[in-house]
Amino acid sequence: MTVEAISGNIKEQSSLGANRVLEVKDLRISYETPRGLVRAVSGVSFFLKRGERLGLVGESGSGKSTTALSLMRLLGPPAIIEGGQVLLEGKDLLKLSEEQMRRARFADIALIPQGAMNSLNPVMKVGEQLRDTMRAHAFNEAQSALNARIEDVLDWVDLTSDIMDAYPHELSGGMKQRVCIAMAILLRPKVIIADEPTSALDVVVQRQVMETLRRVQNDIDASVILVGHDMGLMAQCVDRIGVMYGGKLVEVSPVRDIFKNPQHPYTQMLIASLPNLESKEVFQGIPGLTPSLLNPPSGCMFHPRCPQIMAHCEVDVPTLNEIKPDRWVACHLYDDKVA
Ligand code: SF4
Repeated sequence: MTVEAISGNIKEQSSLGANRVLEVKDLRISYETPRGLVRAVSGVSFFLKRGERLGLVGESGSGKSTTALSLMRLLGPPAIIEGGQVLLEGKDLLKLSEEQMRRARFADIALIPQGAMNSLNPVMKVGEQLRDTMRAHAFNEAQSALNARIEDVLDWVDLTSDIMDAYPHELSGGMKQRVCIAMAILLRPKVIIADEPTSALDVVVQRQVMETLRRVQNDIDASVILVGHDMGLMAQCVDRIGVMYGGKLVEVSPVRDIFKNPQHPYTQMLIASLPNLESKEVFQGIPGLTPSLLNPPSGCMFHPRCPQIMAHCEVDVPTLNEIKPDRWVACHLYDDKVA
């Protein structure tokens, strides 16, 4: 998708209420490896407003999926959540017991995973998997009543009730992803995390599935965190974008602002690297390599690749600050704008 097409697709921001449904504070996650600790997420903080769609973007290894999965405490060893808070309506999910967290999943916060085939049980019919999810949350209703509820939700995501008798392998990729959306909204959670939900689908099906997600999210007034690297998809689907680099958030801004006037040098290069129909110039990538999280660079993580580097960037770690209303940037270029 071209920059022009992306810009054309950006819709006016809806006036979102200031109320925050989710607040993540100073989240730190490492992976234990034989070569030492890999610091995958280093002090990430952000918030999500009620009804808002927030995109988390970044290159592979930037920490976006680790951040998203940790919100539901779905990371197992060798990942270690070293600290921070995940406050869902003020309740810290990182402090819940395993049983409390199990109950919170689907009911309060739900995941639409990257690979539908990997998350659906291949030897269970779709209907049984959906009934299991409801029963796990104390829906002690008769099977006929459960089925009626499930049929409603399937209809909501544009699937017919006969797929309840199908096994996942009998469905197309788009249908499987719709089943995952149905499962995620079954208990009307407040927050839905969508981890690259359409990465395995072709472009047409991708747009249809994202449209379905958008519609049901609006209907149940949930908030969404959309994880991905497709800036075109982000432009169409989210209200704000958080850009991750080397396990940190480097910029968080409304989607329109980030495409029109990116602030962080990495974001500027990311936007400049998007294909442009008008430009006949050679495709511009971002020179250099992503940072090693085993031995991360000192100071600003981006300094080895930054064209605007200053002397102290190699020493001082920049923090994410609000440099103007609703625009958060972690870069020393804006130190004088921090109150
Ligand atoms: Fe570049 Fe310095 Fe800003 Fe890092 S802090 S992005 S090195 S200008």
